[in-house]
Amino acid sequence: MNGDRVVDRDRPALADPAQRAAVTNSAVAISGASKSFNVGTPGEVDALVDIDLVVAAGEFVSLIGPSGCGKSTLLRLIANLIEPTAGSVLVTGKPAARARADQDYGMAFQQAGLFDWRSVVRNVELPLELKGWDRRRRRERALEMLALVKLDEFVDHRPWQLSGGMQQRVAIARALAAAPPLLLMDEPFGALDEMTREHMQSELLRICAEARTSVVFVTHSIPEAVFLSHRVVVMSPRPGRITHVVTVELSPVRTVDTREDPYFFGKITQVREALRGLGASTDDELLIEQASRASHAKER
Ligand code: ADP
Repeated sequence: MNGDRVVDRDRPALADPAQRAAVTNSAVAISGASKSFNVGTPGEVDALVDIDLVVAAGEFVSLIGPSGCGKSTLLRLIANLIEPTAGSVLVTGKPAARARADQDYGMAFQQAGLFDWRSVVRNVELPLELKGWDRRRRRERALEMLALVKLDEFVDHRPWQLSGGMQQRVAIARALAAAPPLLLMDEPFGALDEMTREHMQSELLRICAEARTSVVFVTHSIPEAVFLSHRVVVMSPRPGRITHVVTVELSPVRTVDTREDPYFFGKITQVREALRGLGASTDDELLIEQASRASHAKER
């Protein structure tokens, strides 16, 4: 199978009942969405053009592309922090504004964004307070989430007493506290050192698999995108378009060994080529290349 597809062909054909059901049951369904800023002024910017993207329930999708290609803008459209200039955005089968009001998603950014005057556990409780959960229930849930990110010994600490990686885990616990079906993440591990970052990637996969959460994840790192994702969405420089979608069929349990797997390297090459606008290699071509490299290695 060719894991590299141009997404236009994926535009939801809403006349087809099966496709319509897939869109309704999806975590995100974006159809023909464009976003321009400062419309009608000399500073008008076409940030996104004609975006079609369906993220299935339970799917992990990464967005990758050069700076300024509109990754954060696309995430903010899904979060309904901004409105599209054209097209539609459905989140958990509802208009994005409805999904936002219902708190159907959690968000995590590069900065953990914790409140230093609240203890760790009270930071995680915050979205539950906003939802009106009573004190006992929200404490129970926050403690459960902190156990999930392995921070149960730090519940009474203040955020500033924790390392950057631990703070990011608190932010993820907070984003997941209300068990949202969807998590939106914008370079959440960008500020972490390489070892912590790899550890956090594995933790995130474990947590999302346990909670069956769908994720849309913005990153600049090709290995990070490939390691985490079911699909890597590659975007072009401004105006941002989706140029390729690379499907990653690694085992659901991804470990340190995954990072040494030739298939993993093949997918990294595929995404890199897509980013360079080369028209990524097909899976078959990558297999031939790997076989040829292996036979050359034997000859030597
Ligand atoms: P990325 O996340 O891929 O780096 P962004 O989504 O932040 O890209 O930005 C895409 C483009 O839209 C950039 O050219 C950026 O300058 C522009 N842009 C983003 N937000 C605004 C805004 N509020 N007003 C004007 N231009 C914006």
